[in-house]
Amino acid sequence: MSDDQGYDELGARLKEFEGLPAAVAGVGKDPVNAPMIRHWCEALGDTNPAYTGPDAIAPPTMLQAWTMGGLSGHRGRTGAYDELLGLLDASGCTSVVATDCEQEYLRPLRPGDEVVFDTVIEEVSGRKTTKLGTGYFVTTRTEVRVAGAPAGTHRFRILKYAPASGKTSSEKTESRRPRASRPRPVVNRDNAGFWQGVAEHRLLIQRCTDCGTLRHPWLPGCNACGSPGWDTVEASGEGTVYSYVVLHHPPFPAFDPPYAVGLIELAEGVRMVSNVVGVPYDKVGIGLPVRLGFQRYDEELTLPVFRGVDR
Ligand code: ZN
Repeated sequence: MSDDQGYDELGARLKEFEGLPAAVAGVGKDPVNAPMIRHWCEALGDTNPAYTGPDAIAPPTMLQAWTMGGLSGHRGRTGAYDELLGLLDASGCTSVVATDCEQEYLRPLRPGDEVVFDTVIEEVSGRKTTKLGTGYFVTTRTEVRVAGAPAGTHRFRILKYAPASGKTSSEKTESRRPRASRPRPVVNRDNAGFWQGVAEHRLLIQRCTDCGTLRHPWLPGCNACGSPGWDTVEASGEGTVYSYVVLHHPPFPAFDPPYAVGLIELAEGVRMVSNVVGVPYDKVGIGLPVRLGFQRYDEELTLPVFRGVDR
C-alpha cells in the first residue's frame, strides 16, 4: 500500500535523527531546592528523613523534575527534536503517549545544586503497530551534570502514533466477531512471583524478611522498613469484603455488567482487588465472608476470585 511505502520512507528519515542533540547545555529553571522537594514528598507521601533537614538530599526520582522546561519551555533545546516531532505530526502520528522511563543515579542532588543537562535523540524505532495505533517509539537520553560532574541519566521513551480508527457502525453491530478476551495482567520482574503462584493456584503474599510486614500488591521493597528482602506466605484463602463497587457502566469488552469488584481483606491482613463471584451483585456487601478460588477465563488466563460464602 502507498501508505506503507510512505511510512517506510518516513522511517528512514526519522532514523537520521538518531544521535542528534535535542538539548545542549540546558540549565535547570531552578536550582535543586527544598520547596520543590517538600511538595514532591507530600504528593507521594514519602516521609524518608533523608529528604529533610540541613543535610537533605533530593529524592533521586526527582532527576527529571530539575530539567523540565514547564509551560515556557527551555532555552537549551535544539530544533532537531521539534523537527522530528513535526515530521511525525505531518505523517498523521499526531498522538503521543509516554511509555517508559529509566533513570540512573550517579550522585545525590542537594538543595543549591545547579543542574545542567544535555539531551540526545537516542533511538527512533521502526514503524510499530500497537493497540493504540501505528507509530514510532522515540527515546531521548538526558545526561544531568552538576558543577561539570555527571549526576545522573534519564532515558525517556514516547510513542508518537496515528490513533487506531474507532469502530465503524458495521463493526458495532457485527455479532459474529469472536468474544473479546479479558485483559492480560502486566507481569514484570516485581510481580512475576505472584503470577507464578496463581498459575499453581496459590495466592502468595509478599513478606519482608527484615521486619515481617506482609504486603500486596507486590513491590520491590518494604513500605514499613525499606528492606528489599522478601519471601512469601501462602494466603489461607479466607477473607471478607472490605469495600466494593458494582459496575453497571461503562461496559468493557469481555465483562458483563453489572458485576461486583471487591476490595478483599484477606485473613492475613492485606487487601487485594478482585471479582466477587457466586453471589448476586446486589447481595455483595461490606463484611461479606468470601473464600478464594481460581477462575479460568481462557486458555492462557486464570485469575484469583473470591466467592461469597455462608457462615
Ligand atoms: Zn520490612
